[in-house]
Amino acid sequence: MVPLPIVIGIDLPSFRLDVSNHCSTMSGMTSEAATLLTHCTLCPRECGTDRIVSPGLCGATGEVMVNIYRLHHWEEPVLSGTRGSGTIFFSNCTMRCAYCQNWRISHEGRGNPRTLDDLCAMMLNLQAQGAHNVNLVSASQYTPLVAEAIRMARERELEIPVLWNSNAYEKPETLRLLDGLVDIYLPDFRYWDSETAERYSGILDYAEWARRAILEMHRQAGRCVIQDGIARKGLIIRLLVLPGQVAPIRDILKWIRDALGAETWISLMGQYYPVHRSKEFPEINRQIKKKEYEQCAGYLDDLGFENGFIQEVGSCADYTPEFAD
Ligand code: SF4
Repeated sequence: MVPLPIVIGIDLPSFRLDVSNHCSTMSGMTSEAATLLTHCTLCPRECGTDRIVSPGLCGATGEVMVNIYRLHHWEEPVLSGTRGSGTIFFSNCTMRCAYCQNWRISHEGRGNPRTLDDLCAMMLNLQAQGAHNVNLVSASQYTPLVAEAIRMARERELEIPVLWNSNAYEKPETLRLLDGLVDIYLPDFRYWDSETAERYSGILDYAEWARRAILEMHRQAGRCVIQDGIARKGLIIRLLVLPGQVAPIRDILKWIRDALGAETWISLMGQYYPVHRSKEFPEINRQIKKKEYEQCAGYLDDLGFENGFIQEVGSCADYTPEFAD
């Protein structure tokens, strides 16, 4: 793996939500955002947890947790460009994928609490380092808080595009909190059938929610716009090819073409490698085969897709940053 410089964030004291006096204690967070967390139904799990008191099913509380932020040079070329994508990796996740490469932060919640001022400072720091964009990775469980932080950063002269990098297991009404704040959406579309979604991620209704979420993202951001080789706005959909899961890629691509058009930008990812709980599922306890990836790439051609990215199969670990313990 190519070592990347670790950027030390501004270490301000953490904060805890105080719903009795939130206007003065939450660094500008609105009362609406606080209310959303006291009976949380932000994501399709709708667990109803009072996150001020205890963590929800995603592991998140009322505090925003971040593992690391840094320039990242291994995103799609239109995102990393020459200077890097300004990634902020959020802790916890609304899904529990058995093969998650980031499981230490997404499942175990490793990270540190950050104030909205901290988040704002991270975004501005990444911009000052030359990042082409601010890349918010797995922030869905903190959507109203992160929306506030983006708003604050824009007021403090954040000018580069803001990118929402998510698993697409999201509710359209929650995504609407980001309308006008996020420039580029980078969702995964992981599963087409509910059996596979349940087997590997413990959720039956993934595809239904992903379709709705991606339609909302497209409504907000529209078609991907590239200027001077760098994405400025729009939607790019990531498809991770899982071992033995070639046919669903065709189903997903067909839906994307019919719903959004063949001009939609697709990133076909061949970097799967078995980690975490993959060994519990023998059929995915291996890397994908070259011919599986090539078959999926062929579907892009067959279905008339015009824009996108393909990878070398087995490029795997090069794309995973070293996270903080
Ligand atoms: S975001 Fe977390 S706390 Fe909120 S509904 Fe989803 S799982 Fe529950």
